[in-house]
Amino acid sequence: MKQFNYHQPTEIVFGTGRVAEAGEIILRYGKRCLMVTTPDAPLIPLYNRISQILTDAGVEVAHFNGVIPNPTTETSAAGAKMAREHNADVILGVGGGSSMDAAKAIAVEATHSGSAWDYLFYKEPAPDPSRVLPVVAISTTSGTGSQVTQVSVITNSAERDKSALYNPVIFPKVAIVDPELMLTLPKSVTAPTGFDVFCHAFESMINPGTGDYVKLLAKEAIHLVVANLPKVLEEGSDLFAREKMAWADTLAGLCIASAGVTLPHGMGMAVGGMYPHVAHGESLAILYPACTKFTSGSAVKEYAFMARALNPNLESVSDAESADKAYEEIVKFLKSIGLYKSLKDVGMPEEEIEALAKQSMVLPDYQGNPRVATYEEMVELVTEVYYQ
Ligand code: NAD
Repeated sequence: MKQFNYHQPTEIVFGTGRVAEAGEIILRYGKRCLMVTTPDAPLIPLYNRISQILTDAGVEVAHFNGVIPNPTTETSAAGAKMAREHNADVILGVGGGSSMDAAKAIAVEATHSGSAWDYLFYKEPAPDPSRVLPVVAISTTSGTGSQVTQVSVITNSAERDKSALYNPVIFPKVAIVDPELMLTLPKSVTAPTGFDVFCHAFESMINPGTGDYVKLLAKEAIHLVVANLPKVLEEGSDLFAREKMAWADTLAGLCIASAGVTLPHGMGMAVGGMYPHVAHGESLAILYPACTKFTSGSAVKEYAFMARALNPNLESVSDAESADKAYEEIVKFLKSIGLYKSLKDVGMPEEEIEALAKQSMVLPDYQGNPRVATYEEMVELVTEVYYQ
């Protein structure tokens, strides 16, 4: 058997209604809490409810509601300033990946010199573990898995660069995953965030860092998404299906925290950095067909699994034949959830194809792909998804 390591320090508090425990959980880390969220109107009743839960428990809450989707260094700077002014002991991220990642970046920036951007995964010095503020995450999308990862994705708008703090010190201490909080998600967020779960699970299976434990979790997450994402898109108030998606999201987060992602995510980060209006999951949906066609011959077993998960009729054919069908099956799935589109459709200028290809090779994710793209192949991949 392949050797592997598995490490997961985040406590997971999972289940409908569990948000009610937020007060006692926060109190374990201190009395002064900064709650970090987007300003979105549909979530205001939830923010008020959580503030009340915390206040009732004796927590002094300040609310930073300046997070934008694909949060930037300006977001973390403003949040860190507020954390310092409030003398926060603990940072609570409430929302999707953007709010939870912003909370992690703020937890570093509030107690360190410079900006969160100075603490990206490849920079020295790394954040000082004794100074990083504890983070608690309450997820409201399914999702990025950020509630259980050591990753904070952040964008430097001036450089059109999306990168990440990546360090075990920013694993949330506790992840509260309450599927009831996802009932307000509109279809336009449910579909791309749900597809992101599929991508995390699948890419963790083909990353060299994978192992049997990650594959076990990843396969379950993929089956759960295929069965339940269409249901929550059909009926957003289906709490049982929302629970299954929240569980798939958490499983897939555990997978990427341990094994990491590959080519599509590396390219997706480049898309998000250069075109921040494109949602993270939407960028992955655009990239997946071409990346699947490019890679399926180099990871036959895993792509055979993907195709069969999407179409159980392929159980009777060989792995090679099933892997060959992965491209066709992923396109069918994306069409069924309304996410089959091109970079042209989302307004990317054609003359930036080469710039995007170059940017897709900045993060190391593409090197963890079973087939590593050359620069020329990267240009071909971007060109293909531009016109598809
Ligand atoms: P998001 O957090 O950007 O949220 C999208 C929109 O949905 C926001 O306007 C948000 O306020 C709204 N929203 C969230 N929950 C809602 C709810 N329950 N009801 C109604 N509206 C709601 O979306 P996301 O896809 O969860 O996060 C994307 C970010 O996470 C990107 O920056 C991406 O790169 C990053 N990411 C991080 C990790 C990680 O491990 N840290 C992994 C993958 C992606």
